[in-house]
Amino acid sequence: MKLVTYNQAGQRYIGVVKDDGVINLSTIAPDMLSLIALGDEGLAQAQAAVDGASDLTPLSSVKLLAPIPEPNRNIMCLGLNYAEHAVEHYSASGQETILPDYPIVFNKATTTANGPFDDIPFDPSVSGEYDWEAELAIVIGRKGRKISREQALDWVYGYMVLNDVSARDLQRRHKQFFLGKSLDGACPMGPWIVTADEVEDPQALRISSRVNGVIKQDSNTNLMIFDVSAIIEHLSTGTTLLPGDIIATGTPSGVGFARQPPEFLKAGDVVVCEVEGIGQIKNRVALI
Ligand code: MG
Repeated sequence: MKLVTYNQAGQRYIGVVKDDGVINLSTIAPDMLSLIALGDEGLAQAQAAVDGASDLTPLSSVKLLAPIPEPNRNIMCLGLNYAEHAVEHYSASGQETILPDYPIVFNKATTTANGPFDDIPFDPSVSGEYDWEAELAIVIGRKGRKISREQALDWVYGYMVLNDVSARDLQRRHKQFFLGKSLDGACPMGPWIVTADEVEDPQALRISSRVNGVIKQDSNTNLMIFDVSAIIEHLSTGTTLLPGDIIATGTPSGVGFARQPPEFLKAGDVVVCEVEGIGQIKNRVALI
């Protein structure tokens, strides 16, 4: 199923996308985090709603929001999780590439959450180096600690496309990533959560980004250094994962700061991030 959060006539609902329509799920749960908390029972009820649906709202008549518009806690993110991106990262600063032995993990504030087709707020007084990062995002379905990689996929509720918008100057200036990764609206995601049962192999998905129609990143999730299962094992080693947690799995090569010459986003640019089998998000960079 493709699970969405959407606005219709000023009200926020959750639903399932079927063909070109949306089936309202608000009789099952008031919001996405509540639906996720219902686990398999919630999914079974959602599937029953799809099977019995006769009255679909046209998708074109609603506004899709981030599937989880107000995450319970910060979005967890992998850094340098594609070897080619690690190479471009280090060579851009004249350093020798070091591939990580353990995942590099940072986070983005909950206030970065942004819709799949909403503007990316651009404040040049804060940063002049806004950059794009197309990523596959995991949504965790249930509470867990010390989850083994062999069983890790059982904890995945579904997947989204995510753009880990990054302010490179802030990343450099503050040493740690948090501020540079946490500008308001710097995490467009969606356009929906594709439930895990519909993703046969999360490590075999083409992943790409385009800026103003020009391909910038074009890779495959099979090139992750730490795959989805390994990421969940590492993150849950001593930290309990919770239903609704969002994990961004890292970006492939082709980001702006590492290009020759470097490229950064400017007002009016349109960024499209796409993951095969999941979907596409499209966001315009807009001055605030
Ligand atoms: Mg990233």
